[in-house]
Amino acid sequence: MVMSNRLKVTPNDLSAFWMPFTANRQFKQAPRMFVSAKDMHYTTSDGRKVLDGTAGLWCVNAGHCRPKITEAIQNQAAELDYAPAFQMGHPIVFELANRLVDIAPKGMDHVFFTNSGSESVDTALKMAIAYHRVKGEGSRTRLIGRERGYHGVNFGGISVGGIVTNRKMFGTLLGGVDHMPHTHLPEKNAFSKGVPEHGAELANELERIVALHDASTIAAVIVEPVAGSTGVILPPKGYLQKLREICTKHGILLIFDEVITGFGRLGTPFAADYFGVTPDIMTTAKGVSNGVIPMGAVFVKKEIHDAFMTGPEHMIEFFHGYTYSGNPIACAAALGTLDTYKEEGLLTRGKELAPYWEDALHSLKGEPNVIDIRNIGLIGAIELAPIAGQPTKRAFSAFVKAFERGALIRTTGDIIALSPPLIITKGQINELIDHVRDVLRSID
Ligand code: PLP
Repeated sequence: MVMSNRLKVTPNDLSAFWMPFTANRQFKQAPRMFVSAKDMHYTTSDGRKVLDGTAGLWCVNAGHCRPKITEAIQNQAAELDYAPAFQMGHPIVFELANRLVDIAPKGMDHVFFTNSGSESVDTALKMAIAYHRVKGEGSRTRLIGRERGYHGVNFGGISVGGIVTNRKMFGTLLGGVDHMPHTHLPEKNAFSKGVPEHGAELANELERIVALHDASTIAAVIVEPVAGSTGVILPPKGYLQKLREICTKHGILLIFDEVITGFGRLGTPFAADYFGVTPDIMTTAKGVSNGVIPMGAVFVKKEIHDAFMTGPEHMIEFFHGYTYSGNPIACAAALGTLDTYKEEGLLTRGKELAPYWEDALHSLKGEPNVIDIRNIGLIGAIELAPIAGQPTKRAFSAFVKAFERGALIRTTGDIIALSPPLIITKGQINELIDHVRDVLRSID
């Protein structure tokens, strides 16, 4: 049986696969393997149930192996497995785009499909530069990101991104990129509940960068509304509004990277809805297909899309796209996902659970080595004091111990990040937080 074959994996079998963002040698000495999943739980190769505290990698928002999604994929695979993405169409990719526009922030009327968050980011950056060019402002090519930002791993994304380890091995990256400061101010905002009070003035750094280069050279600013992968950094009250105002004033496009925050993570369909700030372009992936099949979607305002729809009608308007853009099986998975979100009210469920989640998380204040706790919607972070000379070690021990105890948590640097599937119950929130509490008490 398939399952028993999977269970036979031995360390000797593990050498060929170069694992992404993983300490390969350490992993292969003591592998952690999942062989199945259902709803809120994974099952490990040694038969243990593990509570999913991270929705896989911030993506399995509807929980695991949901029937509507599984069925949609199976049916689509039997019906139309693949259709060329260029100069050909198939009905469900158009249906999906319409369904996505229906739930998108007002004014985001068009969708470009990709296969991942990284591809969505590079698509958005290229779109922004090309938009200015088709509008006759070809000098606007500069891009502005933010320190500690994570925008995937492609060259555009790591250039505007601000996580040093993800950048420093890869040469000169894109030219013409500046970074605004991050908004993590622990001395003022530690243990804030929800959006922190202090730091909106950091958005004024954008004015400084604009003054330095002149607005006529700048294409776009890209930020994660809530920075996830760097360890959950929230925008201070009023900060995103200020960024929006400055971008509008200078004709600079604002891109929200909603790869994590999209599809209900904050208790609203998108972070743009949560903060009442609409970007010009919005990148998504992960939750669009519940993480089940690779897919990304870039949402674009009508004015941007329409600016490209000029010139001879037989000409391609945007020289960009992927073999698997709008792949039928990925589209089916996304439609099954949207159906599940709708039937179960998952895109807003986080709003109801957020107060409970907040209280549960902040009950960890005072546990050993906890120096900050941050939360918004169904995202949480517990920051630990680093061990002198051994950064990341304490949090990584917490991750391993949590897995052994039966909870999947994620760590980045010395921060534990939590983002459970949006179907989590209050009882399971308690269980998750109790696991973290026990782990914190058990590590040095
Ligand atoms: N952008 C953000 C904000 C992300 O959090 C991620 C992944 O975590 C990405 C982009 C990259 O997505 P992917 O890993 O699908 O390429």
